[in-house]
Amino acid sequence: MCLTLDVRLQYSHFLPQAIYKSLRAPSTNANPNPVSMTRYEVKQTSSQRRAYLFCSQCEGRLSRNGENWVLRNALKNDGTFKLRSVLERYRCQLDHSRTAAIYYAAKIPEVDISALTYFATSMFWRGSVYPWNASRTRPVPLGPYEEPLRRFLIGEANFPEDVMLSVSVRIPSQIEKLTLSPMGEWRDLQFFGRFSMPGFAFAIIAGPKIGSELRQFCFVRGEGNPLTLSEKVEQYFLQDFKKLHDGIPVYKRTLARPVGFNERSSDGA
Ligand SMILES: [Zn+2]
Repeated sequence: MCLTLDVRLQYSHFLPQAIYKSLRAPSTNANPNPVSMTRYEVKQTSSQRRAYLFCSQCEGRLSRNGENWVLRNALKNDGTFKLRSVLERYRCQLDHSRTAAIYYAAKIPEVDISALTYFATSMFWRGSVYPWNASRTRPVPLGPYEEPLRRFLIGEANFPEDVMLSVSVRIPSQIEKLTLSPMGEWRDLQFFGRFSMPGFAFAIIAGPKIGSELRQFCFVRGEGNPLTLSEKVEQYFLQDFKKLHDGIPVYKRTLARPVGFNERSSDGA
């Protein structure tokens, strides 16, 4: 990330280790490992995606500037969710379609805006610089936006003007832990990326023509730094999950449940 030559690279995670931890079932289960799904198969596994990627200084930046706060405030294995409890004490507004609740983070001192921004950005960027996919492709092909985001992450530049970040706090549901690692694609000269984890869902849009209607929901530049809570977000991720799942050969679908879905009743078989 810092592009320093001749440094020892750490065995870095794609998804922070704490996410895997929060996806594990109680240790009383015969197999508490999370259910993992790729384009090719579904299985319960303890394996985590890692690569020699960052120097220790950059690993430190990633933890300090984003991960530590976000993971402390995310939905935990024991069902506690610090940020959601905080939001319950504040008033929200409904968006014009009345399908999403908006909280203005700028008015909520317990919300660390810069940590959320940094974490989300770093997750998308990580997905852009390494072929994490089972097919050895990069899950988040940011193209020309990769470098400006890298410069933001090492503190050399502001968050790029033509990038929009949306941050959602997930609503209580059976799929609130459904974790889809960062992915994205280009459509009509715009890049769309998304990522969900226990408690949070993030989306990024990059391109020169992001409309003002969309920009008002940008967590970084939108007025008041809006955080959204919306059932729609869950539906999008569920659709993504289903699409991925349906593409897997039937004989490879040994466990047909999404990550974090109803895992408490898992018999580990
Ligand atoms: Zn570095």
